[in-house]
Amino acid sequence: MALRVHHLNAGTTCPVSPLLVNGRGWPFGRARLVCHVLLMEAEDGLVLVDTGMGLKDCADPNRLGPGFIKRAAPRLDPAETAARQVEALGYKIGDVRHILLTHLDRDHAGGLADFPGAKVHVHALEHKAAVTHEIAARPGRYLERQWSDGPTWVLYPPEGDDWFGFKSVRALGNNPDVLMIPLAGHTSGHVGIAVRDGDRWLLHAGDAYYSSRQLSRRPGVPLGLGWFQRAADADRASRVANQERLRQLNLGHGGEVSIICSHDPYEFDACCAAHRPRS
Ligand SMILES: [Zn+2]
Repeated sequence: MALRVHHLNAGTTCPVSPLLVNGRGWPFGRARLVCHVLLMEAEDGLVLVDTGMGLKDCADPNRLGPGFIKRAAPRLDPAETAARQVEALGYKIGDVRHILLTHLDRDHAGGLADFPGAKVHVHALEHKAAVTHEIAARPGRYLERQWSDGPTWVLYPPEGDDWFGFKSVRALGNNPDVLMIPLAGHTSGHVGIAVRDGDRWLLHAGDAYYSSRQLSRRPGVPLGLGWFQRAADADRASRVANQERLRQLNLGHGGEVSIICSHDPYEFDACCAAHRPRS
């Protein structure tokens, strides 16, 4: 299956302090974070990796909860939603056949309602934590109204074949070029999605890390961003261990695998610049 990948920001958030959150700029004012979403053109239709925030969130910000609105200060511009960006690329909403979710937090699942015909692929443990409550999660973490339309879920087992030392399962039927990689910690069933792009892999690691600095030789994270990360941990030990595995993957196999996360704006900008057609 040939894949063409678009990088979309499906929701800018503006928490306080560029210095504390972005690690550069002034301590006062507003930072910038993104919701990095992938849109893939596959032979049998479009595939989204995460959905960011959606049109219903823009129309009624209270859907996202007052705490999130206060902390994250999302811009909620309808033009940033995955739905509007799919249409701007000349596609119809119904062309999106599959949505692969790294996890079901509100800033990743907000756009689900905008694609009622798409199958929604998640790790079975994430479904148990967010939808059926068979696994305990922090009260109020998940917003069930974001999937109250009853999407067609496709659930995946905890682990499978080896992929650079990680476990992986094929995420679209038997397609060997799209893999779900369990990366628990941020949530119980958090995953990354690996996509083969020519002779390289692109791994969308969701919220397994927050800043590209965390995958560098001398890892670090801006103070405020580190606080957000710890506050969101479902299982800190697993998150820390998986983040270190991603760092080793980046340092050892950076020539074969490009790793991105959901919220680093500089990583997102670099992906957009790399994919911009040269004039
Ligand atoms: Zn997130």
